[in-house]
Amino acid sequence: MKAAVFHKPGDIRVDTVEDPKIEDSRDVILRVTSTAICGSDLHILSGAVPQASNMIMGHEFMGIVVETGSAITNLRKGDRVVVPFPIACGQCFFCNHQAPTHCENSNYKHYGPNGDMAGEKGGALFGYTDLYGGYSGGQAEYVRVPYADIGPRVVPESLTDSQALFLTDIFPTGWSAIDWAQLKGGEVVAIFGSGPVGLMAQKAAWLKGASRVIAIDPLNYRLEKARQVNNVETLNPNEVDIVDAIRSMTNGRGADVCVDAVGFEPERSVIDKLKATVNFEKGSMKVLDTAFKAVRRSGTVSIVGVYGSTYDNFPLHRMFDKGITIKQGQAPVQIYIDELINLVNERKVILDDIITHVLPLAEAPKGYEIFDKKEDDCVKVVLTP
Ligand code: NAD
Ligand code: ZN
Ligand code: ZN
Repeated sequence: MKAAVFHKPGDIRVDTVEDPKIEDSRDVILRVTSTAICGSDLHILSGAVPQASNMIMGHEFMGIVVETGSAITNLRKGDRVVVPFPIACGQCFFCNHQAPTHCENSNYKHYGPNGDMAGEKGGALFGYTDLYGGYSGGQAEYVRVPYADIGPRVVPESLTDSQALFLTDIFPTGWSAIDWAQLKGGEVVAIFGSGPVGLMAQKAAWLKGASRVIAIDPLNYRLEKARQVNNVETLNPNEVDIVDAIRSMTNGRGADVCVDAVGFEPERSVIDKLKATVNFEKGSMKVLDTAFKAVRRSGTVSIVGVYGSTYDNFPLHRMFDKGITIKQGQAPVQIYIDELINLVNERKVILDDIITHVLPLAEAPKGYEIFDKKEDDCVKVVLTP
């Protein structure tokens, strides 16, 4: 089959590779019908999230069941399913505690309690490096889905692939960020990053009762997209001081909730990059730093952007004095997905309005290039195998 294969940083190619096989009675094989490129894939492309050997990319995918393991009774050949990006067994301590991204069984080589940079990680993810389980991803014609008796969800026939695809990751991720902040209604929510995840968090903020949603991004075309599809207010950090602007919009207090949907690879100056090298930091926590300033006292900062190392000058004093609540991590897709499928199916939210590029799988390298370099007003690339 054909698949988008990571070879080394900056080098993702479409190769011919072996078809996946059933390896466990709880597996299914899918013929992938739609798959997307995620901002998280860009951390692998850049080399910041390391991978030593060739690997099939992709954790956002859906498709048709073509083969089932002997223990599978919930799915049949021909079912069209969407698959949560975290791989979880459904039976361990963490799976039983609403924490599927910390599954104790899926990442059997590199799992551990530590959360090290290059050592012990949490549960496995599709197509997300050996440290996260070494599973092949779904940017391919076929993919093996482990624990398929509890992960994949059958997609209602009334939904097209484009309408349903983002239930695999970015909508539940944006939703998690807002759910973690426990909105009561009427909050001002400032969302850093207006890429796919930020745009989904904007949708979730409205659905959960925010009174104002503010999108922050240095790219004006992405802010334009945010205004167009989500009717939010927008701020560009290259044009205004974000902290001053948010405070002046909120009686000097700051936003009730700030969401970091950027992570450790924001736009950086040469000085930022030099500082990171000297301090052995991966990227920068500058977005988070701004979020801690921009959130009001006793507010919440939700972090869904990925962070990959220790960071010096962590503003613990500010977080303590302001009494900030923080919640972060990989999105526990499995615990939200059924509720979110219903929202999409009832047309209470539209997800496919952020897609800017649909390309055949054969053009995956081009998809990576334009998404990474933010060319051609790219917001979200969908690949069709
Ligand atoms: P993306 O790269 O398309 O979006 C990031 C956006 O941040 C871009 O629009 C960029 O212009 C903007 N940005 C850069 N510097 C900024 C700054 N200083 N202030 C505000 N915005 C800035 O990626 P994405 O797909 O939207 O993903 C965003 C982050 O979420 C990534 O770190 C990704 O790895 C992470 N992610 C996490 C989860 C999870 O489960 N927690 C799931 C999916 C993605
Ligand atoms: Zn993703
Ligand atoms: Zn588990």
